[in-house]
Amino acid sequence: MTSRRSRRMFWSMPFDHRPSDAERLDAIRRHAHDSLRYFATAALGGEDRDWTRAYLDLTANYMALAEGDSLDDRSMLEKGSEIADRYLDAAKRDPWTPPCSFCGDSPAVAWFEGPRFTHSVDAADKVRAEGAWTACARCLELVRADDREGLARRDAKRFEGRDGVDLERAMTMARDMHEKFWKARTGA
Ligand SMILES: [Zn+2]
Repeated sequence: MTSRRSRRMFWSMPFDHRPSDAERLDAIRRHAHDSLRYFATAALGGEDRDWTRAYLDLTANYMALAEGDSLDDRSMLEKGSEIADRYLDAAKRDPWTPPCSFCGDSPAVAWFEGPRFTHSVDAADKVRAEGAWTACARCLELVRADDREGLARRDAKRFEGRDGVDLERAMTMARDMHEKFWKARTGA
């Protein structure tokens, strides 16, 4: 299933040292950037418009502290509203799309609708089901070819070697995660 809280977060590289202030700031900026892209796209339409707009404004304030020239409240709010507008404009041209549920790549090109995942649509706003499983172009080909091992290999590459995970273990984890998709499709 896809949600913006991607399971990929669990596979982030651990630091082998305590992060420096620069690394911390960089991580905060990246997270704020990803969140702003998502909230801006969601705030432009759909049922979640109101709360996503509120989240967009809140997150923009954190970004304002990360990139603004001054740190007082007034400057933060001014810069924050400028940032929110910038992301809203960008979202009109280039809407956020979720990463592939199989391999984590972006952009997703297919949304397999739950609960069976047998039918797919080509855009998030066409999804009528509660949840969807996304696929990038390459993974969509592999799904169509029913190449389950190919999909697992593609996914496993993403976290092999991290935290001492070897290929075999990475493959097992990838197969386990994809199992939910295949089981739902066959109704098993
Ligand atoms: Zn993929």
